[in-house]
Amino acid sequence: LQIGVPAETAAGERRVALVPDVVKRLAQQGMEVRVARGAGEGAFFSDAAYEAAGARIVTQEEAWAADLVVHVQPPSEEEIALLRSGSVLIGFLSPLDHPELAEKLARQGVTALAMELVPRISRAQKMDALSAMAAVAGYKAVLIAANLLPKFFPLLTTAAGTVRPASVLVLGAGVAGLQAIATARRLGARVSAYDIRDVVKEEVQSLGATFVELPFEVPDAQDVSGYAKALAEEKQRQQAQLLVPHIGRSDVVISTAQVPGRRAPVLITEEAVEAMQPGSVIIDLAAPNGGNCVLTQPGETVVRNGVQIVGPLNLPAEMPVHASQMYARTLLAMIQEFATSEGFQPNFEDEIFKGACVTYNGEVVNERVRALLA
Ligand code: NAD
Repeated sequence: LQIGVPAETAAGERRVALVPDVVKRLAQQGMEVRVARGAGEGAFFSDAAYEAAGARIVTQEEAWAADLVVHVQPPSEEEIALLRSGSVLIGFLSPLDHPELAEKLARQGVTALAMELVPRISRAQKMDALSAMAAVAGYKAVLIAANLLPKFFPLLTTAAGTVRPASVLVLGAGVAGLQAIATARRLGARVSAYDIRDVVKEEVQSLGATFVELPFEVPDAQDVSGYAKALAEEKQRQQAQLLVPHIGRSDVVISTAQVPGRRAPVLITEEAVEAMQPGSVIIDLAAPNGGNCVLTQPGETVVRNGVQIVGPLNLPAEMPVHASQMYARTLLAMIQEFATSEGFQPNFEDEIFKGACVTYNGEVVNERVRALLA
């Protein structure tokens, strides 16, 4: 089985799908890994390191023409055209935001597995790329906030007086939110967190943060796969209104609330931003999906009343070494689950394969994606 690792071409993307360590493991299992020249450069992995791990350095076209191609970003149209009919593509494919991409992959005759759709069951934990990347983003978001905030995070007692710790509010305590809480706590901030799923309350508290409870009923906020459900518009407005005083008291807000396949919920209104002190910072990790703050501009920093609102689009790309390493491990787990040196074995009896597979045999096979295309 040939495995191709093309260089990423999306603007700002510095991750690479496989790192030399993982290439070595695959090579030892008899796979022929082809890495495009310079593919690891953004993440500081040299061609020489890949060669030493057993890979062959090839052109971008040769990497895309492998039996199995692994990638970070969804492929462009030009890249899809380089895939061979009958080949397999594994990577982030944004299937619910860009179902048209699935259609193009199907037309190209590619079997495509979306890392976003790997079901969140225990057996699939080692293939959970979303969680791995969310952890990177949650960590980095806090560092950016600490850097922008014109204040200390920790309590400081000095001869020049005592500095009170910064107040950090984390909205959405999923994987990114929990990592943000842990990171902000390590820096000494006072942290509180809110999530619509109150099942996370204990996790929040075990990290040393306060769980914000709103006088607001949301029966069964969680779906069967553990994700939050979207709220009705009126409920959503009520929720944002109730959050205003909590946001107003915070020096930093890290917002991470998402609902798969939907626009991110608005939790931070203009009124809430105006309630914050000048100099405060909002890092809106939901920016790629429209943002949790109404003022967020995806990919930009907006300043309103002295409050900086940052809408990062791809924080994992800013920590490319560990983000690539973690991502590569999740791909390794996928490859080991569904391929041998002889070839790739589609298995629709398998819950993970069935969940992640978007296209097969020239067709879009994932039901959620099909529904979006209908
Ligand atoms: P996500 O990125 O989809 O959303 C982030 C957080 O935003 C979630 O906690 C969600 O509840 C919250 N949210 C959504 N709408 C909200 C609103 N209106 N107000 C406040 N908060 C809101 O979530 P995620 O981090 O990918 O994780 C989702 C769930 O999956 C969690 O329960 C997580 O523990 C679980 N999970 C399970 C596994 C596994 O079992 N293998 C792996 C990873 C995550």
